[in-house]
Amino acid sequence: MLKIENLHAEVGGKQILNGLTLSVGAGEIHAIMGPNGAGKSTLGYVLGGRPGYEATQGSVTFDGKDLLELAPDERAAAGLFLGFQYPVEIPGVSNLQFLRTALNAQRRARGEDEVSAGDFLRLAREQADKLGISMDMMKRAVNVGFSGGEKKRNEMVQMGIVDPRLAVLDETDSGLDIDALRVVGEGINRIMRRPDKAVLLITHYQRLLDIVEPDFVHVLADGRIVRSGGPELAHKLEREGYGAIAA
Ligand code: ADP
Ligand code: MG
Ligand code: MG
Repeated sequence: MLKIENLHAEVGGKQILNGLTLSVGAGEIHAIMGPNGAGKSTLGYVLGGRPGYEATQGSVTFDGKDLLELAPDERAAAGLFLGFQYPVEIPGVSNLQFLRTALNAQRRARGEDEVSAGDFLRLAREQADKLGISMDMMKRAVNVGFSGGEKKRNEMVQMGIVDPRLAVLDETDSGLDIDALRVVGEGINRIMRRPDKAVLLITHYQRLLDIVEPDFVHVLADGRIVRSGGPELAHKLEREGYGAIAA
């Protein structure tokens, strides 16, 4: 589904990704771990097409399409979803408006009809309910005044509504208490653990991987994947730290 080959990328003229190669097949969950500053978030931003994050060498294909050639909205329409380490606040735009706009943009790009107001409300209510987000919060400005945990749960509501094929989730577990972690982790499983979907889960902690069990675990250090393995690799990292592996 996703094939990253020898990817090099720069941010602000500084080279951050240095020949990163990674293949993700349908039905797979891949955890990306690695020390601070390794380039994990940069990888997410390059995949999402964030301005300023420039691929300088290598290739990324998504379902055989050249992902790097697509504009960010075209990437979303193709089924890519990015969950951020720090979800943005959008004052003046309600969660419901924001989500309906995102969903309709995606549908138009796919040549589908826009969702009706009634169908959208039913969908939003269903997804919000599953993540413990009230309709009252759905009517509030996007993430404004939300706690860290509410922002992350709200992000999973967004993911449930746009129903992506590939989700890149950057430290979705950061700042979550045990209960919120379980709700978010189970949300990821419910929405994304399907034979036709895949997840790149960027995390520092085993506690999320206890809920969302990865098929593969990779260590990203100095802008490339330096080690890959199964779930046991995450346990080894938790015990021994990155030092032993990156060295
Ligand atoms: P990680 O998510 O693995 O902690 P990042 O991808 O956030 O790492 O950052 C990788 C490196 O890129 C760090 O050294 C960071 O300081 C640098 N970096 C990230 N964004 C920018 C930016 N906008 N301008 C300059 N350097 C940046
Ligand atoms: Mg970091
Ligand atoms: Mg990061």
